[in-house]
Amino acid sequence: TALYLVTAQSLRLDDNPALAAAAREADHIVPAYIHDETRPRPTGGAAKWWLHHALADHARDLARAGAPLVLRHGALLTEVEKLVAETGARTLYLQHDPTPGMHAVEDALHHWAEENGIVCRRFGGHLLFDPVEIRTGAGKPYSVFTPFWRACIELGPRAPIPAPEKLSAPDNMPATLSLDALGLLPRGVDWTGGIAATWEPGETAAHKRLDHFIEAGLRGYGHDRDFPALEDGTTTLSPYLRFGNISPRRLFARLADIAAMEPALAQGAAHVQRELGWREFCWHLAVAKPDLATRPIREDFTAFPWHEPDPADLKRWQRGQTGFPIIDAGMRQLWQTGWMHNRVRMIVASFLAKDMLTDWRHGEAWFWDTLVDADAASNPANWQWVAGCGADAAPFFRIFNPTLQSAKFDGTGDYIRRFVPELANLPDAHIHEPHTAPAGVLHASGVALGRTYPLPMLDRSMARARALDAYQARGTTP
Ligand code: FAD
Repeated sequence: TALYLVTAQSLRLDDNPALAAAAREADHIVPAYIHDETRPRPTGGAAKWWLHHALADHARDLARAGAPLVLRHGALLTEVEKLVAETGARTLYLQHDPTPGMHAVEDALHHWAEENGIVCRRFGGHLLFDPVEIRTGAGKPYSVFTPFWRACIELGPRAPIPAPEKLSAPDNMPATLSLDALGLLPRGVDWTGGIAATWEPGETAAHKRLDHFIEAGLRGYGHDRDFPALEDGTTTLSPYLRFGNISPRRLFARLADIAAMEPALAQGAAHVQRELGWREFCWHLAVAKPDLATRPIREDFTAFPWHEPDPADLKRWQRGQTGFPIIDAGMRQLWQTGWMHNRVRMIVASFLAKDMLTDWRHGEAWFWDTLVDADAASNPANWQWVAGCGADAAPFFRIFNPTLQSAKFDGTGDYIRRFVPELANLPDAHIHEPHTAPAGVLHASGVALGRTYPLPMLDRSMARARALDAYQARGTTP
């Protein structure tokens, strides 16, 4: 009998090297998911909702294949010890978790297994490559994306492997907790309605979404990906990738197949692959810099005078009450649906870290708790990228102008109207900057600034000058 450890990054049957090896090598398999709250960084609220439903989906798929999922709650090593004692398992299979801090946990497991005569086998699967495979000529991790991705493409990811056809469980299956007992869903007020209405977690849904995107969105991806109002402008696969409902190798390979069959789709396919490259790059950084979520990568930003925010100001940003419609639309999309379009993530993050001059770590923490795709690598790496202190980052002095961004990427205001309905009747010309609209237009549109919709929370030209001063002075403040 083998114990196959299901993780919160491997919730799939397809292209799952650890599961495939267990199915090939062991007579019987006990798949077990251990919910360990002592992980280096506890999962955020919205991501826990996804985890609950993706576990339910994966449990159904495993049971159908022949090996029902066992659920446990507690410290990983303690629970593994118990499961080994209960099942007599002699081999452990798991997908390696590259999350900072998890290496030590897995090493402890490995060590314990060795001491107890148990074979512990770790496999890749969360990434296209093992981060140590991709190194500069000098044998170092990359800190610039373009040469990193070139090296990845040159090496080429291995082909994905199919799901095992059949799994066989032992007669003496250990007891399992109910899914509800893991406590992943909110206990008090249920705030998950908007998330549930938007998403269908799980492996089958991931492939369904990909099929639909290939039909409806792939051809226009290069252009449409910047327009947040477009339903199929991007894949929306990020939470599926985060939880391993689909593997990056499967996605990469599907895109390569499509490109080979339909030349008209090749450009879009290569572009999505390149975005997957950014995901890979973020993990590359997280492995090289385990304190990515707390410490600027660029040394000259360690003394940057970012503020501790006024709690009321931070709340206005979090709840989409800044008085800048594109920002408010983005923050409300996040709050309601657990996801935000990439273009808008960049605008709201720039606003927090530059216009509000608030420590980007506050924004990172809010995203961590509210995104269904909250990811230990992509979230901090992108926050650092926008804040200007990351690897290969946007220069600090390039400060997004929310009004210009809004006019360019949401010209007719469809995205704003969807998430900021109190502005829905404003004409296109004024929807990006209601506080400059003539009183008559506001009145006719039912907008009373300061009452139905807030006035801007800051003066942008002053904020911009303040940010640039802080940038000039960085490193000189103790
Ligand atoms: P697509 O455009 O369809 O791209 C396909 C896939 O490529 C995505 O699913 C994702 O896995 C990957 N990808 C695309 N852009 C990026 C990027 N910039 N960095 C890393 N991977 C990328 N992404 C997360 O998955 N989790 C996060 O916690 C996260 N936090 C972010 C925070 C900020 C401040 C910013 C600016 C970006 C963040 N991103 C994060 C990256 C990006 O916004 C999302 O991956 C993307 O919006 C997901 O939508 P999609 O699946 O439709 O993307």
